[in-house]
Amino acid sequence: MAEIQNVVLLGVDAIVYFVALAALLRARGRIGLGAFFCALGVMHFLETYLASILYVSLPYGIITSPGSTVLFTGKLMMLLLLYIREDAVVVRQPIYGLLFGNVLLFVLAFIMRQHVPVSIAPSRAADFAFLNEMGALMVWGTAILFFDCIIIILLYERSRAWFGDRVFPRVFVCGVMVLTFDQLAFFTGLHMLTGAGVHVLAGGWAAKMGAVALYSVLASIYLIYFERPIGRRRDAPKIWDIFDTLTYRERYEDLLARTGCDALTGALDRHSLEAHGRRSVEHAAAAGRPLALVLVDIDHFKAFNDRFGHAAGDKALKRIALDIMAAARVSDFTYRFGGEEFVVIGDGVNAEDALSLADRIRRRIAGSGDAEGRLTVSIGVSTCPRDATDYDTLFEIADKRLYQAKAAGRNRIVGERILPADGSVRLVG
Ligand code: GH3
Ligand code: MG
Ligand code: MG
Repeated sequence: MAEIQNVVLLGVDAIVYFVALAALLRARGRIGLGAFFCALGVMHFLETYLASILYVSLPYGIITSPGSTVLFTGKLMMLLLLYIREDAVVVRQPIYGLLFGNVLLFVLAFIMRQHVPVSIAPSRAADFAFLNEMGALMVWGTAILFFDCIIIILLYERSRAWFGDRVFPRVFVCGVMVLTFDQLAFFTGLHMLTGAGVHVLAGGWAAKMGAVALYSVLASIYLIYFERPIGRRRDAPKIWDIFDTLTYRERYEDLLARTGCDALTGALDRHSLEAHGRRSVEHAAAAGRPLALVLVDIDHFKAFNDRFGHAAGDKALKRIALDIMAAARVSDFTYRFGGEEFVVIGDGVNAEDALSLADRIRRRIAGSGDAEGRLTVSIGVSTCPRDATDYDTLFEIADKRLYQAKAAGRNRIVGERILPADGSVRLVG
């Protein structure tokens, strides 16, 4: 009878634990993940305390602790959920925090042990030996948790090949495999510290498997009914989803900014030009190496957009970016400077080679695309050290020359010399 009562109570524990933490996880868009992490941290203390003190008996002679059955298994399943909805970088935050906090607990307990205490009541002396034991178990448990998490994430990714997008079997199988490993590892530590017997190992394992089954059902319900599936949007976004949307958009933009690439064309972005371009000029000037700055602007692109539409314009921009990159050497860097303006920085390229580089770019673009929507570009070229030895002046000169190329009829290059489309050459006066 007591055994059945214990099973039911463990089930209730697990459901209360899961529902409360899943609610905090679900609310992360509005209140941030900090609340979820802190709640998880507090449960960690209770988990270790229970794992070393409270054991209950279940049917078939199984002895287990609610600390490891409900709370540890639950924590691992919550971290898996966190990974499924966020990513590994987010999952490692609470793990590092727990590990760090546990070591700190250990250190502080050691220092505080040196106090000379006064007794406030005869039966209430501080039990530092117990605190130490808990500290050691917590450090050991979290060290294993670190590996558990890596394994469960790798297994979860793997399990797509076995089960496709079916959530329940994926979560269940990953949980079973990782918690079996975990039970062996944690038991080794527990055995060395407290001398716990083999029946604790087997009983704990069986109870954890039961918990994994229950949590997998709960996690599937949560993922299917309470989280918007990735890649699918609801028809009408609700007002409270705006926090989610903003969070994702911020991340997306942050990701793009960190890659330094322009999302449409795949060229490097303006931000990268400001950083790398400027540095390249400084280095080349200091080392006495030549460097070319090639500024490319599409001719009458507004008219192209007006005639063929913006989508066709975007497609043409992509193609032109590819043409520029194909015409440049591998060691040249191509940046999208503005809407339909590109900059190529050629380190080691002298004034003569810069003109032929620009001419390769111009010819390649003029020769690609279909005849009806054919686009041309005008190019301004400046070189270091001939024109200037600093980035700003180099850019200014290239920009002025680009303007001259436009004024002279477009589809041409102005550098130290003018290279028109028909191939005749003259020096800039
Ligand atoms: P020109 O340079 O020969 O003087 O004429 P233009 O028509 O190219 O002149 P301008 O530089 O003033 O116009 C640039 C146009 O490029 C304006 C805008 O319609 C278009 N544009 C800028 N960014 C994008 C983009 O990302 N996609 C599309 N489709 N068009 C863009
Ligand atoms: Mg322009
Ligand atoms: Mg233009």
